Amino acid sequence: MRQSKLFTKTRKEAPSDEVAKNAQLLLRAGYIYKNMAGAYTFLPLGLQVIERINTIIREEMDAIGGQEMHMPSLQEPSLWEKTDRWSDENVDVWFKSELAAGGAVGLAWTHEEVITEIMRQYVASYKDLPLFAYQIQTKFRNEIRAKSGIMRTREFWMKDLYSFCATEEQHNDFYEACADAYMKIFNRLGIGEQTYKTFASGGAFTKFSHEFQTLAEAGEDVVYVSKAKGIAVNEEVLEEADLSELGVTKDGLEKCKSIEVGNIFSLGTKFSDALGLTYKDESGTDVPVIMGSYGIGPARAMGTVVDLLADEKGIVWPESIAPYQIHLVGLNLDDAEMRDYVEGLYTSLRNRGVSVLFDDRDLRPGEKFADSDLLGMPYRVVASKKTKESGSFEVVTRATGDTRYLTEEELYADFGATADA
Ligand code: ATP
Ligand code: MG
Repeated sequence: MRQSKLFTKTRKEAPSDEVAKNAQLLLRAGYIYKNMAGAYTFLPLGLQVIERINTIIREEMDAIGGQEMHMPSLQEPSLWEKTDRWSDENVDVWFKSELAAGGAVGLAWTHEEVITEIMRQYVASYKDLPLFAYQIQTKFRNEIRAKSGIMRTREFWMKDLYSFCATEEQHNDFYEACADAYMKIFNRLGIGEQTYKTFASGGAFTKFSHEFQTLAEAGEDVVYVSKAKGIAVNEEVLEEADLSELGVTKDGLEKCKSIEVGNIFSLGTKFSDALGLTYKDESGTDVPVIMGSYGIGPARAMGTVVDLLADEKGIVWPESIAPYQIHLVGLNLDDAEMRDYVEGLYTSLRNRGVSVLFDDRDLRPGEKFADSDLLGMPYRVVASKKTKESGSFEVVTRATGDTRYLTEEELYADFGATADA
């Protein structure tokens, strides 16, 4: 991609109404555009990051047997009345509207009811179970506060997976597999080290549910962390009895601010009872299906990565989700010979499958470097008169500032193989 062709531009200051660091940096770098509080456009660079995050999520959900589908946002009241989740008294985040043809619709803020109703058509016998279905789809929530940038918006992507099992054992096996898959996802996103599987209250069917909480000053949540044990508990689970069950004491816990990047929940038979989702067991008896739900917010995860990894100069993307691996910064481009040389390098890198953002603009070096730092690609390769004469390129690792000098062949050897890895 040529930076001269990118319609987005960087800006020196974030808009004054934007308080969250993740959104300030993403707005300045041209990854997102703020349409209004709680609603952002994901511009070309921002969408690339989201798609890479979604790809990682898909790979890990597929690896544990997830099957991807896509459900509508438009919801009919009668379905949600069956679980008592249509009224604004019971659910305070609905966006609702009138149909021109008469009657009301709501915009889905989650999909348990919807998928349970769908599965009534496909689940008949114990032989159909277990099954795991997920989507990465737009949710709408009438959130009261939307002050955390892309981490809390009123329209957002959610990966929501739902599990349908015949036995407790099937359910528990999947629940554990999904918890492990979540840690793999957060590791691949570069926030695994700060992310704790957190014990939360479980509702009617299990003692605990689990949140995946990433420790961060910008977090809206508070968790109590045992770094030694590698677990955390939220406020609901701070009772001595619960703590002793988990093998920790209040004194051994550190209070930290955190961001909930995902959560997993055993639903028992709450939805299958309410909506009549049963299977026939081996004796032909109708038995309610055991369910679970498992959510991740891709944009909240993206905001968390920005918040945790950025430095005073700008965004720092991990290789796994960076829009481009290399930011090729060409200098002295007013010189025709230099332009040919740098264009040649850009073409060779692309021919070798390296993903490159090419700063081909005729600007002062200082401006180009500042933009490059702000945009945050993992590696910056500088090509200038100096590098042309010496036959080696300056390669700077964004995260550490480490500088190496590589010949053209070394550059291809290093980055050609890791392209889009
Ligand atoms: P919170 O307590 O932060 O409001 P939640 O418990 O309402 O979160 P869930 O309904 O479990 O969240 O949604 C699953 C995931 O979707 C969350 O873990 C989070 O990553 C993401 N998410 C939830 N609400 C939002 C939002 N308003 N904007 C962006 N992502 C969100
Ligand atoms: Mg919420």
